[in-house]
Amino acid sequence: MDFRLNESQTLFQRTVRQFCDAEIAPQSREIDTKQRIPSELLDKMGQMGLFGTTIPEEFGGGGDLTIATLGAMEMGRADVSMATAVYYLLVTGWSRILAKFGTQECKQELLPDIAAGKKFLGIASTEAGGGSDVANLQTIAVRESDHWVINGSKAFISGVTEAVERGGGHLLLARTTPGNDHRGISLFYVPAKIEGMTVTPYQDMGRMGISTCEMHMDGVRIPSHYLLGEEGKGFYHTMEGFNVARNLVAAACVGAGERGLEMGMEYIKQRQAFGKPLGKFESVQFELSDHYAELELVKTMVMKGAWMLDEYYSEASTITASELTRTIAIVKLRAPQMAFAIYKSTMMWFGAAGYTKEYDVEMGLRGIMSYLVGAEGALNIMRVILGRELLGKDFIPYK
Ligand SMILES: Cc1cc2nc3c(=O)[nH]c(=O)nc-3n(C[C@H](O)[C@H](O)[C@H](O)COP(=O)(O)OP(=O)(O)OC[C@H]3O[C@@H](n4cnc5c(N)ncnc54)[C@H](O)[C@@H]3O)c2cc1C
Repeated sequence: MDFRLNESQTLFQRTVRQFCDAEIAPQSREIDTKQRIPSELLDKMGQMGLFGTTIPEEFGGGGDLTIATLGAMEMGRADVSMATAVYYLLVTGWSRILAKFGTQECKQELLPDIAAGKKFLGIASTEAGGGSDVANLQTIAVRESDHWVINGSKAFISGVTEAVERGGGHLLLARTTPGNDHRGISLFYVPAKIEGMTVTPYQDMGRMGISTCEMHMDGVRIPSHYLLGEEGKGFYHTMEGFNVARNLVAAACVGAGERGLEMGMEYIKQRQAFGKPLGKFESVQFELSDHYAELELVKTMVMKGAWMLDEYYSEASTITASELTRTIAIVKLRAPQMAFAIYKSTMMWFGAAGYTKEYDVEMGLRGIMSYLVGAEGALNIMRVILGRELLGKDFIPYK
């Protein structure tokens, strides 16, 4: 067993840190206030190969999920609003699923542009009436000769405006067999800019640089090669995607948490109260130590998750789906809570100053909140998954 990064992982991390410090961190406040990630920045990330880490070399990518996880940590550190990290992790996470389940035609059409940062890729599973109960979705896809015709609406979908502007779209779940069973659902690639699609943005409280939108589809026609994997197996393909994306989410929370704790430490070392720095008060030190301990525990678990994912996708894998799912549920459950707790304490240490936009603490707090509320799966759903894996499928609470 070896807990160190190897040479190429260390080099990747160092290179991305330098890039993030020079290009992303100085722009993070502007990303939040202007509510967009500059396209020049996304172009540069594409040129660096950041979006290709989960895409096979034959389609212009190169890397693995450990590399992608290190990338997500750096993005979370550099832009604590989480917008850049979300953009990055959606593209890298869901590209892995497109690379695994997409038809050759679909992969050839999309993956080289995604790897180069020219196209966005996200996930559209949530519906207003379903939420956590993904299998209860109402969007319908009907086959018409060599096309699928899609009708329905998706809610709270990240990156739709970006996909309309830059190109790309979402892996979208739709029912292909009537009923409310998870076995009648299929997964499709659906471009964001297509006839019959109406996009309505929400006004979010955080991660302002990336949009979340409602997508309404009225007779959207997509070619049959946009079906991913097997018809009727879309629910399972998506759950596999969630395992990938959730570890990346947890990695971004680790990065943001690290930066939040650094901001807090810098502050309590210099801010004087009652004649001494705040950091000399034991109650503050103990709080800091608890956060650091939790951060290190979660970070180790996230790196384990990355290693398990790479193992799981290797030909000689000995990792079971249940082992993987448990690890990922743990990190998605704990990482957002850990990062949120850090930002809450840091804001308290900053006092009133932390409540202003002079400092990035409030921006981090708002961004992390998205992952507590539900993006890539609500916390209670992680608990439901763990309960199911530990006790068996008969103990799913909502069946
Ligand atoms: C910023 C943001 C971005 C998002 N981006 C995307 C995206 O790109 N693509 C996409 O498909 N979705 C996206 N979502 C939606 C996200 O997946 C959902 O928020 C999530 O699945 C929860 O659904 P819901 O919000 O409808 O909450 P609900 O399902 O209504 O849940 C509400 C509360 O009830 C709890 N709850 C639900 N079921 C149970 C249960 N069985 N036991 C105990 N408690 C339960 C939940 O934990 C939650 O606290 C995004 C959400 C946010 C906030």
